[in-house]
Amino acid sequence: MPGAIAKILEALEEFYGEQEAAWPTDPYLYLVWLHCGYPASDERCSRGWQILRNVVGVKPDQILAASLAKLTKALTPGGMVPEVRAKRLKEVAARVIEECGSDLRVGLQNAPSAARKLLKKFPGIADPGADRILLFAGVAPIAAVPSNCPHVMIRIMRGPEPKDYGVTYREAQKELQALPENFAARSRAFLLLKRHGQELCKRTKPRCGQCPIRESCALNSRAGI
Ligand code: SF4
Repeated sequence: MPGAIAKILEALEEFYGEQEAAWPTDPYLYLVWLHCGYPASDERCSRGWQILRNVVGVKPDQILAASLAKLTKALTPGGMVPEVRAKRLKEVAARVIEECGSDLRVGLQNAPSAARKLLKKFPGIADPGADRILLFAGVAPIAAVPSNCPHVMIRIMRGPEPKDYGVTYREAQKELQALPENFAARSRAFLLLKRHGQELCKRTKPRCGQCPIRESCALNSRAGI
């Protein structure tokens, strides 16, 4: 139902305003940013990212040249397990040099299935992360779903979400495939659904009373809230 989704996105945009990605859209830089905070959140990753950029640098050779102790110290303000994240950053830097001569964008120019396979070799990247990278890097206009709130799209369009995360993600992706297959439409949807999942349509205890789309939400109408 492309018309229904379009109306919902319009209402969300009116409520939250236009959204922008809080992360670097370059695929290699995104991988570095992702390990700058834990548990990963826009706020923690961005904080760690700023410090890493100032203290060490974010290029593959800069990360490989830094000692583990220095990297760990730079990553500490981003949250838990900085020593694990420091090792992962070195793995990311080494792999991007080894697999694609320091330029991950070049490595992603192959068929989408090969690009996905390459991305999934990096630590912390499964299908949802690969979808997001391919979309925001402008590699393929995939119907990416925010990995921390795939339930949002299901609740709005169908009602209660399945218990299984993988099923919920894939079903939400099917709904989003109704949108035009272009980067602008699909990244806009991703960002608005992500914001809505963070602010009101939380996994537990959604704040339906404050929700701007409650009248069109399948879960809300079923619950008779
Ligand atoms: S009405 Fe409730 S369940 Fe539906 S989208 Fe809004 S917050 Fe989520």
